[in-house]
Amino acid sequence: MIYLDANATTKPDPQVVEAILPYLTDIYGNASSGHQLGRKARKGLEKARSQVADLMKVSTEEIIFTSGATESINSVLSFVQHEYPERPLLIISAVEHEAVLECASRWENDGGRVKRVAVDAYGRLNLEELQDAIEPGKTALISMIWANNETGVITPLAEVVELAHEAGALVHADAAQMVGRLPVNLSSMAVDYLSLSAHKFHGLKGTGALFVSRRVPFRPWILGGGQERGWRSGTENVTGIVALGLAAEKAAQRFAVGSHESVAHLRDGFEQKLAAEMPQMMIHGQKASRLPNTSSICLPGVDAAGMVILLDQKGIACSGGSACRSASLHPSHVLEAMGFNTEHALSTLRFSLSADTTEAELMEAAEHIISSAGHLCQQRDSLVSF
Ligand code: PLP
Repeated sequence: MIYLDANATTKPDPQVVEAILPYLTDIYGNASSGHQLGRKARKGLEKARSQVADLMKVSTEEIIFTSGATESINSVLSFVQHEYPERPLLIISAVEHEAVLECASRWENDGGRVKRVAVDAYGRLNLEELQDAIEPGKTALISMIWANNETGVITPLAEVVELAHEAGALVHADAAQMVGRLPVNLSSMAVDYLSLSAHKFHGLKGTGALFVSRRVPFRPWILGGGQERGWRSGTENVTGIVALGLAAEKAAQRFAVGSHESVAHLRDGFEQKLAAEMPQMMIHGQKASRLPNTSSICLPGVDAAGMVILLDQKGIACSGGSACRSASLHPSHVLEAMGFNTEHALSTLRFSLSADTTEAELMEAAEHIISSAGHLCQQRDSLVSF
C-alpha cells in the first residue's frame, strides 16, 4: 500500500508501538493510584506531558491530555461562550474543520453570534475582513484552523493573534494538521488555546491535547474524578498519552534535521510530475503558504470518487476531499469558500504525505494517477485530453 492519506490519519510509528507495549502488559496501573504500578503509569504520563510541551515550546502545566482535537475544540468553545456572556461574538474562517463548524452552530443555537471570514481563491484568510469583523468588547473568541486539512493552506496566525488581542478577544488555534507537520513555537506567539490530535503525526487515534496558556482562564468541560489537575476528568489513557509523547519527541527530532523541508521537496516533485503529464491540473493553494505534505489537486472532468476507487485497487490510498466527507457527495465547503463549483470539487483529490513517504512511492503513485485519470477520461468519452 502506498499511503497518501496522512491528513486523515498516519501509521503509528513502530518505535511508538514498541514503547507503549509495557503499558499494555506490565504497567497497567491507574495513573491516580499511589502504588508502584500507578506511580509508573504517572511517570510515563508526565514524561509525555514534557515531550508535548517541548514540541511547542510551552510549559508542562499548559498541557491537558484529551481524547483528541475534537474534544479539545469542544471544550474551549463551550468554555469561552459560557465564561463571557457579555461578549457574544465568535469569529471563525469559512474553511474550518467540522469540529469547529458544529461548535459554531451550537454557539449560535445557544444565543451567540458567529461571523465566518472569507478566504481567497488560494484559500488565504482575508485579514482585512477579519479586522472589520472584530467588534472590540463584543468578540469573545477567534477560532482559526491553523493548517487546512483539505488544502494544507496555512492561516497567518501571528497576525490573527495581534488583531484579536488588540480588541481584547481570545484566540484558539485548531492545530490538528499543524502540530507534527511544521515546527510550532508558542513561546513567540501568544495563542491562548490550541488543539491537537496524536494520530496525525504517528501517534494513536483517540488521544490528543489541549494547550491552555497560563495567561488565560479555563474551566473543564468533562467533569468527574478530577484527573488532569481537575481540567479533564476521566481515567487517563496512559497508553495513548505515552504514544503521543514519544510521537511528539520524534517529530521534534525530525524538524531538527529539516525533514519538513524534505517532505515539501518530495511533494513538489510529485506535483511537477503530475502537472507535466496533465497540464489542465490545478493545485489548490499553490500561491499560498501550504503544509509541506499536502497536495490538493483538481483534475478537470475526472471523477474523483472513481479515481479513489481505481487507485485503491492499485494499492494507493488517497482521499477525495476530507476523510469525513469522502462517504458523501456533498461538495467540500472549503473548495466552495475558495470560489469553486460543485463540479470542480467532485474532480478534486487530496494526497497527503507522512513522515514515512518515499520518493519512489510518490513516483509510482504519480504514474498510476496519470494512467487512471486517462482511463477514466476515455471511459467517459470526455473531451478533456491529457
Ligand atoms: N481539526 C482538523 C483540522 C482536523 O483535520 C481534524 C481531523 O481530521 C480534527 C480537527 C479532528 O481531529 P480528531 O478527529 O482527531 O478529533
